[in-house]
This record gives sequence, C-alpha cells and structure tokens, in this order.
Amino acid sequence: MIMRRLLAGVAVPLTLVLAAGPATHARQPARYDILIAGGTLIDGTGRPGVVTDVAIKSGKIAAIGRIPRSQAEQVIEASGLVVSPGFIDVHTHADGLVERPAAANFVRMGVTTVVAGNCGGSALDVAAALSALRENPGAVNFATLIGHNTVRSAVMGSENRAARAGEMARMKSLVWKAMADGAVGFSTGLQYVPGTYAQAPEIVDLARVAANAGGLYASHMRNEGTELEQAIAETIRVGEATGARVEISHLKVDSPNRWGASAKALALIDAARAKGIDVRADQYAYTAASSSLSIRFPSWALEGGRAKIAERLNTPETWEKIKKEMAALLAERGLRDLSFAIVALYRPDSSLNGLSMQQIALRKKGSDSADAQFEAAREMQLEGGAQMVYHFMSDDDVDRIMRHPQVSIASDSGVLAFGDGVPHPRGYGDNARVLGTYVRARHVIPLEEAIRKMTSLPAGHFKFANRGTVKVGYAADLVVFDPKTVADTATFEAPHGYATGIPYVLVNGVIAVKNGTQTDARPGQVIANSVLEKR
Ligand SMILES: [Zn+2]
Repeated sequence: MIMRRLLAGVAVPLTLVLAAGPATHARQPARYDILIAGGTLIDGTGRPGVVTDVAIKSGKIAAIGRIPRSQAEQVIEASGLVVSPGFIDVHTHADGLVERPAAANFVRMGVTTVVAGNCGGSALDVAAALSALRENPGAVNFATLIGHNTVRSAVMGSENRAARAGEMARMKSLVWKAMADGAVGFSTGLQYVPGTYAQAPEIVDLARVAANAGGLYASHMRNEGTELEQAIAETIRVGEATGARVEISHLKVDSPNRWGASAKALALIDAARAKGIDVRADQYAYTAASSSLSIRFPSWALEGGRAKIAERLNTPETWEKIKKEMAALLAERGLRDLSFAIVALYRPDSSLNGLSMQQIALRKKGSDSADAQFEAAREMQLEGGAQMVYHFMSDDDVDRIMRHPQVSIASDSGVLAFGDGVPHPRGYGDNARVLGTYVRARHVIPLEEAIRKMTSLPAGHFKFANRGTVKVGYAADLVVFDPKTVADTATFEAPHGYATGIPYVLVNGVIAVKNGTQTDARPGQVIANSVLEKR
C-alpha cells in the first residue's frame, strides 16, 4: 500500500506541473516517507535515550536529528513515547508464518523479526519455506534454522541408536542443502524424540556443516535442571569443536531442587566466552515453561512411533515400569506429582484445556493422587498427547538470567490463532512483560538494557546486518511505545490478549501497527544466510 502511494507521490506532481496553469505551484515531493517526531530514541545499543526525530525513506532509516515536519509525507507524533528498533525474537516456532501472515501476537508486542526452526524442528525444505514467504510475505521479517530432529526423522525415523555412516552422510547433506538454501544455522532439541537419541559426536558433525556455511548453533539442551551444568558444557563443546557461534535456547532452571543453579550456568557461559567461544543465550520472562506432555515420559518409552508407544502403554508390566520412571524423574527434580503441569491444548477434549493434571485426575479418575495423575497422562498420551504449560521455575533464576548481559529476550512462541487453545501467554506478552513488569515495576534491568536485549544483541549474534539498531541506512524496523503504560495482558488463564501501550510498529518502513491496531500491511522480508552466496 505504502509503496504504491510512494510511487504515485513521485509521478503525480510532474503531471500536475505539466497540466496546471502558471498560478499553481507544484508541490515538492516529500523528502521522507514518514517522520517519527519528538520521541525519545533508544537506539538499541544500550546508550541512554535522546529526544529526537527519525525519518524514513524507501524502507530505510534516512535521517536522525531535528527534521522539519514539512519534509515528510506522513508524521507520527511520538512526544512522550519511546522509539526503538523493532524487537528481534530469535527463539520462535513461527514456522507457520505463511499460513498466518498477520502474526498478530508478535507484531502487537513490537516484534518485527522472528527466527523459526528452533528446538530441532524446522521445515525440511528450507528453499520452499523461504520462497513461499517471498511470494506471500508476512507482517514480520523471517529467518529459519534447520532442525536436527527434522533432519534425523527424515533419515532415521525415531530410531534410538547412533547414526550409521551412510545415515550420517545423508543428514550432513540435508543440513548443507538447508544452509545453501538460506537457513541461518542449525538447531537441536535434545529433550525431544528423536534428537534425544543422538550423542555428542553426531551433533558436532552436523553443527560443523552449518558452521562452515556461516551458521550458528542453537540448542534446546538435553537437560535444564538436574543436569543443567553438564548440558551447558555439552552445548559449549559444540562451539569449541566447530567454531560455531552458540545460542543456548530458553535458558532456565526447571527443577525446584536446582533453583539457584542459574548462577553456575551463567558462570559457565562467562568462562567459555573468556576462552573465545562465542556463546550466548536467550530467555522468556515467565516462571512457567511450555512443552509436550510426552516430555514427562522416559524417552525409551517413546521410541519407534505411535503403534509401539501404544503397545508399551497398554502392556501392564511395561506401563508399571514407565510409571515408576516418571515418578523417579520428577522426584529427582524435587517434584512429587504432575500438579505443576497444566494442559494448554488437548485436541481430543478441549474441556481439559487450562486444567492441571491434578484436576484432570480428579475428574477422570476420582482421585488426585500422583498415581491417578500418571494414569490420566497415559490416556492422554495414547490419544496423541497434549501441549502443556509447566510451572517449575523461580523468580530469582529468571531475574538473574535476565541481568546477564549476553542473554536476549525471546518468546519461544509460534504464530498464534487468536482464541485457539490455551497457549503460553509469552506468545502475546513476552517483550511487553519485560518492559512493563521487569523494567518499570520491578527494576530488574534498565529500559535501555532491555531494548538492547531485544534488538542489537540478538541481531549481532545472528549476524543480521542492518537491523537491531536505529542507524541511518539500517532497515526501518521500529517500535513506538509508551514506557509508562506498555504491558502484557495475556495470562496463563486467559492467554489471548494483545500487549498494550505500543501504538506504532513499523516493518521495513511500512506501518504494521497504527494507533494500536494492526494494519493490512505485510512488509516482512526473508532474511537468508548469505555466506554461501558470497563465496
Ligand atoms: Zn525448546
């Protein structure tokens, strides 16, 4: 829309000059498309804000400073508001952007760039995924990783063993092709099937393929609680062995009896960085996680596909063994039952959405004992499993991780359909929650630092040139928000609520949110790995 108007703005005045009589003065075409006037510019570098104007031309930031309003075709009055780079969310599951191009949950909280393909799950055909978005763009910019689980499933199904030489070669070639097609790195999800069956050498060999193509290694680690330090060490070793930049995904401490271990985790990151390994992390600003119900089962019980899983769950002796291991896995972490687990989305029976496993056990089994909860979990797993929200982190760990200068803010969310299911509220609120709760209400980090963690920090680590800072020549991805009111409204009980206090969002110089309402614009671009093209 804007582009069309822009072209008209150039062509029409000339026609007017020719057609009009001498009494009419031809209006000069505006020097800038949009002027954001009088806001406090927080440029993403961490520097303090300054009151100034930002001018945009042809999708780029064209000027910063005192700029006359008359020089712009359109003026956004930003006095009293903060103007910052658009937020870059490097840990998402926004693989469905082409189906839901508005990406309203992201755009409305100020996100202008998403990285999909995380936790080991991505499109297998990256070329097709990117070309679909080039043809039908979304409202936000899009990059993707190539997922280990995706590649391993394609070559080995859900086999619980090491890859054979031929399989390894096929997996390497799939990763190489994805990188050549524009993936920006390689991701693992080592708590999920089948990634969990892979040992370190397989991961190192595949990450090296991505690293050689300029890609980063992002990992949902093997463990985030009881063996957090070992898992971080395994992740760092991949960077050490391959030279890849490393992103530890959704860094957290997910076991009550390990609360406080974030100090050790962050010290390991610092020590690795001191040795020259470029490891960083991201986090979401909540004390509850979102994952599958299956993650509560021992991984051997999930081998070999649905029929085999059903056979195990339906064989009384095997099920007894599984149940014992489930209880032991919880006990190890300081949990006695599944009362910390809330159903987000259970397709066969949506009336269970929003209930805890304790409530479900009471309803279906007439008892809320741990055993009844496991029985309910078994039935749900047999029906295809569920998406869950797990309440098992501490505020102290979340705060400590947020204060670390190498940790960026990322939602871990997909592109949500408004009103569908009971997803984790982070998908609507993460960035706004950091600005409203962690910055304004609780003073965990200063505003400039929060913005840096959402912009230049992730842009630098993912090597997104010309984004993440408000700088002349950079892409005009911008957010205009009210620091006094910006807030998340999404809660665990009622997650479908947009962030508030964010009146304007611009993506590539096009207004995607205007007066707090999303426009029809779909100006998102594909951000593709360009290292291979440059060779
Ligand atoms: Zn994950």
